[in-house]
Amino acid sequence: MNNKKSELLSHQELGTKFDLFSFNEIAPGAPFWHPKGMVVFKELEKLIREALDKQDYQEISTPIMVRKDLFEKSGHFKFYKELMFTLKVDNQTFVLKPMNCPESAIIYSSRIRSWRDLPLRLSEIGRLHRKELSGVLTGLFRVRQITMDDAHIYVRPDQILKEINNLIILINSFYKIFDFKTSYHLATRPDKALGDKKLWDQAEEALAKALEKNKIKYEIQPKEGAFYGPKIEIQVKDSLNRSWQLGTIQVDFNLAERFNLSFINQKGKKEKPIVIHRAVFGSFERFIGILVENYQGVFPTWLSPVQVKILNITDRNEKYAFEVAAELVAEGIRVEINIDNETIGKKIREAEIEKTPYILVVGDREEKAGTVAVRKRGEGDLGAQSFNEFKDRIIQEIANKN
Ligand code: ZN
Repeated sequence: MNNKKSELLSHQELGTKFDLFSFNEIAPGAPFWHPKGMVVFKELEKLIREALDKQDYQEISTPIMVRKDLFEKSGHFKFYKELMFTLKVDNQTFVLKPMNCPESAIIYSSRIRSWRDLPLRLSEIGRLHRKELSGVLTGLFRVRQITMDDAHIYVRPDQILKEINNLIILINSFYKIFDFKTSYHLATRPDKALGDKKLWDQAEEALAKALEKNKIKYEIQPKEGAFYGPKIEIQVKDSLNRSWQLGTIQVDFNLAERFNLSFINQKGKKEKPIVIHRAVFGSFERFIGILVENYQGVFPTWLSPVQVKILNITDRNEKYAFEVAAELVAEGIRVEINIDNETIGKKIREAEIEKTPYILVVGDREEKAGTVAVRKRGEGDLGAQSFNEFKDRIIQEIANKN
């Protein structure tokens, strides 16, 4: 990998070079995901879904196009009108949702909730639209169509600290997988804030405590919180050293009020839940943009669009090459074969330019012995290995997220 900043490619350049995604003037601010880019997208979705399944989240999906009055009720329309796409249908005004919160609240209020139901964790991988000006659109970093790994967690006041602590652990562990250099920011109560000052203090303290408990350094941004509650924002730098916000944890004292959300407490009385909004990746588009720049297209094996490239030496070994490929594919490994009638040297060079983690060369000798000649990206020729040995090794490597 290059170390000099000036030699680093932008994610737009890398997207073209590695055939991951593209943009077209037909849809400003919305990427076209090519098959290889979609592999990365799907791996990230899988990763977050698996983690959330283990933490008692329930996934929901809510409509993209909704009547404008929903966002008037939530208060968003007043603050974000300029960022919302509106359209007229059947003489009514609709919007493309710029956030998922109000619709999550509709599902919350679809039945009576008891104190025992909380925390209720509703997650959604939702597609949002925001009317960013064409002048500020920046590749995957600033788009008009955003895919967000969102969740709204409905808690009782006594559950805030534990829940936020869980979220810090979750988010921090995710960023570690990708070796991101993160900075955490805690934004506190602004002058024009809604909600009880006591609750604010309690929530700010919970956010700070959870960060400290996990030994995470953070910066305080005084009075930079949202009008509805304090928040933690996680920022990461791109290859040009610009900071971008990815993950977020926001405590909200307003949503329950606006949508009249309640739960029946232990005394049998109605009480308002507190809502925590949180995103781990934030926007998939932005996260993948940073990821592509961080790796400069050299993805770790588990994320690589193609994990193994198989090259035959002569036509005689074509059948064996396909057999090896079929066994790897059966294990869920992403494989490409190059049976072109070229010299093996040329085929190896091509596969190396594509940054494929493993190249397997098969000739008469390997076919006869049931082996494969293994070349590992960054390490070069590892020599012949039994095919089963190689297969076990790569399965392990992928499972370890290497
Ligand atoms: Zn939200």
